[in-house]
Amino acid sequence: MARTARLLAAEDPPSVERSRPASGSGLRSLASAASGLWDRWSVMGSGCSKLEKALGDQFPEGERYFGLENFGNTCYCNSVLQALYHCTPFREQLLEYYATYKNTEDTEDNLLTCLADLFAQITLAKKRTGVVAPKRFVQRVRKQNELFRNYMHQDAHEFWNFLLNEIIDILEKDCSTANNSPKNINSEAVSNGGVYDLATGGEGPLVTLVHRTFQGILTNETKCLMCETITAKDEPFFDLSVDVEQNSSLTSCLKNFFSTEILNGEDKFFCDRCCSLQEAHKRMKIKKAPQILVIHLKRFKFVEQLSRHKKLSYRVVYPMELKLGSMCEDVDCEYSLFAVVVHVGSSPNHGHYVSQIKSHDNWFSFDDDTVQISEEFTLQTFYGSSREHSGNTDHGYILFYERLGGSS
Ligand SMILES: [Zn+2]
Repeated sequence: MARTARLLAAEDPPSVERSRPASGSGLRSLASAASGLWDRWSVMGSGCSKLEKALGDQFPEGERYFGLENFGNTCYCNSVLQALYHCTPFREQLLEYYATYKNTEDTEDNLLTCLADLFAQITLAKKRTGVVAPKRFVQRVRKQNELFRNYMHQDAHEFWNFLLNEIIDILEKDCSTANNSPKNINSEAVSNGGVYDLATGGEGPLVTLVHRTFQGILTNETKCLMCETITAKDEPFFDLSVDVEQNSSLTSCLKNFFSTEILNGEDKFFCDRCCSLQEAHKRMKIKKAPQILVIHLKRFKFVEQLSRHKKLSYRVVYPMELKLGSMCEDVDCEYSLFAVVVHVGSSPNHGHYVSQIKSHDNWFSFDDDTVQISEEFTLQTFYGSSREHSGNTDHGYILFYERLGGSS
């Protein structure tokens, strides 16, 4: 069984997460920074929309529901952007970043500023619903990564990885630039995006808004079966990529992911205590659960005989409330589902992405420029099928869970 927890950025997990930026005057500075924003962007509104009518009095105060225009097979990008926008802790921190960088002179355009501009454009929109064109952001993605430069169908999970890594890189550069200038790592410009662990005098790993929202820590324990010594190694992760099986559940897929593996034969483990190769038991556990747990179902499998990827339409049931139990050191750790990126289509190279998102207790369906009210039971239609060739081609692909009871 392949175990590929996605490992990104920092080699060592941050020891402490501290100095969450105060949000205080965030919105005021956000509003002032954004004056003139609307002159520069074209926004297509649609009167009092169907969505507003459908929500009526239930329309949450201050919330916005905007579709995203498609720029030639950019649904992989739109579906992930909607999940990120409706991920409250991420959105709040990105808007704080926006307010700060808009008030800082000579910030060059990059993928993060384009993303922050897009979020601000939606948040500050006069209308409560409509469609925005994420043109600058998409252009930036294409400029930055040749993988996304063509107009072909892309993998939403690859895009998710690329985006997170890119944001971290940008914030790391911001921080090192700020460190090299006469003053100092406490400057507001830096602290809103990324913060060094001040306990280590700025030497420790950088904690960015991506780390604060999505980073968890896995611990990898290997027990030598000869001397019984346990060696533990920590690995940070931003999502878990799990193998899927037919007629299974997310919990059983996770149990497989975290199950004990026996290292023997050619896979023996070099034990430092025995100074030789030994049989061993290896298992993983979540040492620190992330605030937002992102799970990627590996539905695109490389088939050697075909020498190409094949889509697995397996039925995998995912719960609204996910308990990690013994998979996590904090056995009471619980999560609630708030977004699903759905792949539509029977092959990895064609198809479409949409997202189902929970916002203020309502479920919505986001399909590029279209936003509609949905129902919780609709999510069941994206579990997959127990038979191959069933005609149902819409499958949950990336799942976003928010931790209940506050972050650890
Ligand atoms: Zn040993």
